[in-house]
Amino acid sequence: KNQGRNTWHWYEETSKKMAPEMDYSYLRLELMEALREEQFSLFYQPLIDPVTGLVKGVEALIRWFHPERGYIFPDVFIPLAERTGQIIAIGQWVLKKACRDIAEWNRTHQSQLTVSVNISPLQFRRTGFLQELEYALTISELPAELLKIEITEGMVIIGADRAIEILKSIRNLGVQVAIDDFGTGYSSLSYLRRLPINQIKLDRSFIEHLTENDQDAAIVQSIIHLAHQLDLEVVAEGVETLKQASFLHQQGCDLVQGYFYARPAPLSDLKLTYIALAD
Ligand code: C2E
Ligand code: MG
Ligand code: MG
Ligand code: MG
Repeated sequence: KNQGRNTWHWYEETSKKMAPEMDYSYLRLELMEALREEQFSLFYQPLIDPVTGLVKGVEALIRWFHPERGYIFPDVFIPLAERTGQIIAIGQWVLKKACRDIAEWNRTHQSQLTVSVNISPLQFRRTGFLQELEYALTISELPAELLKIEITEGMVIIGADRAIEILKSIRNLGVQVAIDDFGTGYSSLSYLRRLPINQIKLDRSFIEHLTENDQDAAIVQSIIHLAHQLDLEVVAEGVETLKQASFLHQQGCDLVQGYFYARPAPLSDLKLTYIALAD
C-alpha cells in the first residue's frame, strides 16, 4: 500500500501545482496511453460461503501498473477517470475482460463462479450501458446469472425513477445487482426494498470493530436479519479475522470477503477452498 500512498501524493501535488485544465489533459493522455498499452489488469478477490469455505464467486478489482510510478490503486485513478469521462472506456474494458476471464475459468474448472464488476455512476446512467452488458455476455458466453454488477446507494437515490428503470432492464437480462458499501450512504433497507436488487455488501467500516464494539455487532446483526426477510443475499466485505468470520457465520451472513481469506490477486492465484466454519 506504500506504493499507492506515494502515488496519491504524486497526484495531489500535481493537481495543486498545475492549473486544473493542464492537470486533466495530462492525466487524460496518461489514461489513454494506459488503455492503449494495456497497463490495466484485473485482480480478483473471492467471495466465500463461510459454512463450507467454498468460493462462490469473485470480485474484479482494477489495477493500473504505471511504467514509472508502479501500481496505482483504483481509489486514486477511478475518481479522476470519472472526471475526464474515460471511466466509460475503462469500464467497458473491465466488463469485457472480467466476463471473458471468468467464463474461461468456469469452462476449464467446470465451475459456476459468479463475477462481480464495480460500475461507476457515469457508466450506469449512460444510454448504451445495457447494450454493453449484452455485448460482454455475448462475446464471453458467460451466462447472465453469473454476472453481478456492484453499484452504490448514491447511484440509486438521485433520480430514483430512472435508476429503477435501468435496474429493471438489467434484471431482465438476467444479470444480478448488488449494492456495494452498504450502510455508508443515506438509504435504508426499507427504501432498497423497492429496488430490484439481489445482494447487499456490508461496508468494511461495520466489520472492522465488530468484535469489540457491541453497537456495530448489533447493527450488523439486524441488517443481516432484515435483509434476509427481504430476500436479499448479504455479503460482508473487509473480513480480516477469524473472530469476525465466526460472528458473521453465526449471524447467517451468506458470503464473506476479505484479507482473512484472500487478498485480491491475479486469477491464476485463485484458490477454491478455505476454512469451513460449520459448527
Ligand atoms: P470496493 O468495490 O468496495 O472494493 C473493496 C476494496 O476493499 C478493494 O480495494 C479491496 O482490495 C479492499 N479489501 C478487500 N478486502 C479487504 C480487507 O480485508 N481489508 C481491507 N483493508 N481492504 C480490503 P481496491 O481494490 O483498492 O478498490 C477500491 C475501490 O475502487 C473499490 O471499492 C471500487 O469502488 C473501486 N474499483 C475497483 N475496481 C473498479 C473497477 O473496475 N471499476 C470501477 N468503477 N471501480 C472500481
Ligand atoms: Mg465492490
Ligand atoms: Mg465494497
Ligand atoms: Mg468499500
